[in-house]
Amino acid sequence: MGRHKQHKPRRPRSESDQPASEWFGTALHSTEGMQHLDVRQSGNGILITSSPAEIDGAPASWALRLRNDDDGQALNEWGAALAAGRGHAQVMSEGPGYMTVLAFMPNQPEDGVGTLARIRTSGGPDGDVVFERSAERPMGLWAEAGEGLLRIVPLLGPDAPPADDLEDCRLCPGCYRPVYESSSSHTLIGAGPMPVIGLCRLCAEGTTLRSLREADVPLAPQQRAVLETVAAAMA
Ligand SMILES: [Zn+2]
Repeated sequence: MGRHKQHKPRRPRSESDQPASEWFGTALHSTEGMQHLDVRQSGNGILITSSPAEIDGAPASWALRLRNDDDGQALNEWGAALAAGRGHAQVMSEGPGYMTVLAFMPNQPEDGVGTLARIRTSGGPDGDVVFERSAERPMGLWAEAGEGLLRIVPLLGPDAPPADDLEDCRLCPGCYRPVYESSSSHTLIGAGPMPVIGLCRLCAEGTTLRSLREADVPLAPQQRAVLETVAAAMA
C-alpha cells in the first residue's frame, strides 16, 4: 500500500518526529468539521496554509507566504503574537489610495476563536474594507502554529533555497489537509478498488476516520466515501 519517498535529504527531527522545518495541526469543529493549519519553511520564508479558508467569500485553501527580509524579526513577531494569543498586524502592500494588511484578530468572531485575514482598505476613512482572505481557528491551534513558526525561523537564512517557485500543494482527498511535496507524511496510495491518490499519512493509516468517529464531527460525503474505501481496503 503506502509508498514513502526514500530519496529525501534527512532533516533534523523534533520530539514529535516531525521535521523541524514543518508543523501541522487539525481542529475538529462540531459543525464546520476538520480545520487544518500547516506551517513550513519555504525557501528563506515561511508558508502558512489554512484549509479550508475563505477567499473572496468562497471556501478555498489559503497558502500565505511570509518572506524573511529582516533576519527573522517580523516572522518572530508573528510567531510570538500567535503563541500568546495577541492581536498583530503587518502592512503587506501599499499603493495610491489602498493598503493591504495581514491581521491576526484574537477572540473574533467569538471567544476562543481567532481570525487571520488579509484585508484591503481603500479610499480613506470612509472607504471599503474587504476581507480578501480569512481563516478562523481555535485560539489553541493558532498558539501551537505560532510555536511551530518560532521553531522554524532559526532555520531560515540567506542560504536557504529561493522560494520563487511556490511549492505546489494538493489537498488530501480524505481530509482536505494541504499536502506538500516536502510534507513528512506525504504518501501515495494507488492500489485498492478505487484508486486513491495523494492521501495524507493520517488518512492512509485510518487515523482520520477513527478520530472523526470518536468526536462525531461532520464530514463531506465525498470525503467519507474516500475514507471508507481506504478503511475497507485495509480491513
Ligand atoms: Zn488526509
